[in-house]
Amino acid sequence: MIYDIAIIGAGPGGYVAAIRAAQLGAKVVLIENDNLGGTCLNWGCIPSKATLTCADKYNSAKKFSKFGINIENLSFDYQKVSERKWFVVEKMRKSLTQLIKSNKIDVIFGEGCIENQNKLKILNKEEEIFVEFKNLIIATGSRPTSLSGLKIDHDFILDTNDIIKLEKIPESVLIVGTGPSGVEWTRIFEIFGSKITLVEMASTLVPMCDKSISERLERIFKIKKIECHTATKIKSIADKKVTLENGQELYPEIVFVAAGRTPNTDIKGIETLNLSMSGRYIKTDNNLKTNRDNIYAIGDVTGLEPLAHTASHQGLTAVEYILLNIEGHINYEAIPHIIYGNPELCSVGLREEDLIRKKIDYKVSIFPVSAAGKYFIEDELEGFVKVLATLDEGKILGAHIVADHGSDLIQQATIAIQNSLTVKQLQETIFAHPTYSEALYEAFLGIDNKTLHLPPK
Ligand SMILES: Cc1cc2nc3c(=O)[nH]c(=O)nc-3n(C[C@H](O)[C@H](O)[C@H](O)COP(=O)(O)OP(=O)(O)OC[C@H]3O[C@@H](n4cnc5c(N)ncnc54)[C@H](O)[C@@H]3O)c2cc1C
Repeated sequence: MIYDIAIIGAGPGGYVAAIRAAQLGAKVVLIENDNLGGTCLNWGCIPSKATLTCADKYNSAKKFSKFGINIENLSFDYQKVSERKWFVVEKMRKSLTQLIKSNKIDVIFGEGCIENQNKLKILNKEEEIFVEFKNLIIATGSRPTSLSGLKIDHDFILDTNDIIKLEKIPESVLIVGTGPSGVEWTRIFEIFGSKITLVEMASTLVPMCDKSISERLERIFKIKKIECHTATKIKSIADKKVTLENGQELYPEIVFVAAGRTPNTDIKGIETLNLSMSGRYIKTDNNLKTNRDNIYAIGDVTGLEPLAHTASHQGLTAVEYILLNIEGHINYEAIPHIIYGNPELCSVGLREEDLIRKKIDYKVSIFPVSAAGKYFIEDELEGFVKVLATLDEGKILGAHIVADHGSDLIQQATIAIQNSLTVKQLQETIFAHPTYSEALYEAFLGIDNKTLHLPPK
């Protein structure tokens, strides 16, 4: 049989592409050399958030007496936290297996290798299987990699996969990098009582975020007594003694390297396709098509935005272009970014510093979440909602949030940006009371100095 679409890699890019292709009646085959669900389900989004949820429940319980609920002898058992995480992963993997089956998608387990522009060879322990296709989608994702001069040894120096497998909470941890994983595990380790030191080579924490977020995070970490070293790197590690370039000497129980991934583009036989590359990433056009007419690439291998929801959306785009000839329409400026810190750090669209650099005239509004009733009820008082809009029409350009439940708020701002909504339209929208969303509403009002729950300026 010749498949309409063959997909290598069953992560959130590949399996979502496969489902959409099956919905459209295509004959599709999914090739995976590990578990269905990819990094996201097995090593990334899901197990990390399952761990985070356990930490948060423990953290909430610590505050229960404030709400009139007494718990005596509160404690945690990290072994059980870990079991819960694997339970969630296992359950979701089973559901995904069923979902793929119900869509009548053929799955072949094994390593996908390229034979030529219309043929794959799949290697597994027992056999070699050949698959012919009209179109190929490369969705092989990425894997952790050592940073230069900092080799992962999976014992003292750990990567993101090792940290998911951890069975006990370390007394102290040195976290390298303040991207999403670094901040997320700072939250987990801090709640469970580890002493944390952070090293960031950029001059600010979370350097990819709006400056207001970096500055607030610095303040939050200071209050929590988390030691931060910015604008420096690890100089050497010898006998568990870590020396930073700034001269600081540290003796952590483990070093967690929360940065550095490499795309899985070293697929056997890929050279036969002669794909245009940008470094190790595969170059694609708006439709995720490579320089070869029937070869597409989606997700982490494109190097565009290493996020599960981006990979999935690229998968839909590629399939709808192949099967329906619908031109790609991904707006990379309307992709929500969430860093699961405590509180969450969320962004969409342009940062204030981007607007200044691009000389775009703008209006800005910042609303502290402590002034919103729902946040007060929940005693989640740290943070703000910042909104940026064009000076003339009031189109939303960006939103930057530090707040619990910011991940839900940022989605609303994403809808606004994606649909070019104006501040006026958003101000006219009725937001339910009392909700977290009201903090966003107040920020929209603030663009025109109409904030209700703050004293006049
Ligand atoms: C710790 C961590 C936390 C994260 N948290 C989030 C989050 O909260 N939200 C978010 O949006 N993103 C998160 N991410 C990023 C997200 O996981 C990735 O962006 C996403 O999984 C990429 O999807 P993908 O389909 O491109 O590749 P992957 O999910 O990496 O899947 C690729 C699949 O291809 C398979 N494969 C590779 N080569 C071959 C081959 N030759 N033959 C057969 N199969 C092959 C792999 O085994 C893998 O299953 C996180 C990542 C990490 C590491």
